Amino acid sequence: MADQLTIMAVHAHPDDEVISTGGIFARYAAEGIRTVLVTCTNGEQGDAPGGIKPGEPGHDPNAVRAQRLSELRESAALLGIEHVELLGYRDSGMDGWDGNRDPEAFWNIPVEQSAARLADHMRHYRPQVVVTYDEHGNYGHPDHIQANRIALAAAAATDIPDKLYYAAIPRESSREMFATLRAKGIIEFDFDPPEDFGTPMDQITTVVDVAPYAQRKIKALEAHASQGDSVPFLRMPPDLQHAMFATESFVRHVNRVASAPAQETDLFAGLR
Ligand SMILES: [Zn+2]
Repeated sequence: MADQLTIMAVHAHPDDEVISTGGIFARYAAEGIRTVLVTCTNGEQGDAPGGIKPGEPGHDPNAVRAQRLSELRESAALLGIEHVELLGYRDSGMDGWDGNRDPEAFWNIPVEQSAARLADHMRHYRPQVVVTYDEHGNYGHPDHIQANRIALAAAAATDIPDKLYYAAIPRESSREMFATLRAKGIIEFDFDPPEDFGTPMDQITTVVDVAPYAQRKIKALEAHASQGDSVPFLRMPPDLQHAMFATESFVRHVNRVASAPAQETDLFAGLR
């Protein structure tokens, strides 16, 4: 019997599942495809309730972990994610944070060790499609870079996924989006994306329409309430939110499906 169609996304922190892959999870779940999320860390370096940052008084990493894992369960339920697998590593924090030096942080765990655990999940679920970040972790977060490394290593060791994708931030449309957010005063900080921010449209192989699930993504983001401060998208007007959440874009990094077209609208193109 053919393996059941299965998608696995490998993410770094609780909440990462929403923005780049929340729509595909919801859409593929609705289509009867098995959905698996692997979250590598517990997110201890996130905000404590009230926007308290790591290292500040009142930030208890154990409490943050418990809170974020419970938010993750709520988000996964909203997105139709059937299986959530936690690798349980400690969050390394942003590049340059003290957390980077914690020997137990995900960033400091040898890739072969964490990749072997991910490989076990791949052997168990046998996903035809795996999604993770690009080799820069999309924006340089050490745990996102590490998620890319272990996903590639586990895919190579198991030879299981037929297709492996990098979630992409479309460069042109995100520049426009940030300019609009600044102009409308929705983001207070003056974030002008660097020239090389995101992926140019002509390198994106796959754009999936997830418009019917945009509202569900917003609900799932809201479920991660303790991180609400760092999610300016929740403060956007509904039309901008919808525009931002209605499609998800990917770069196909590995492809063993000869019949998959160069430009796809479905990660399972050629596999159905
Ligand atoms: Zn993250």
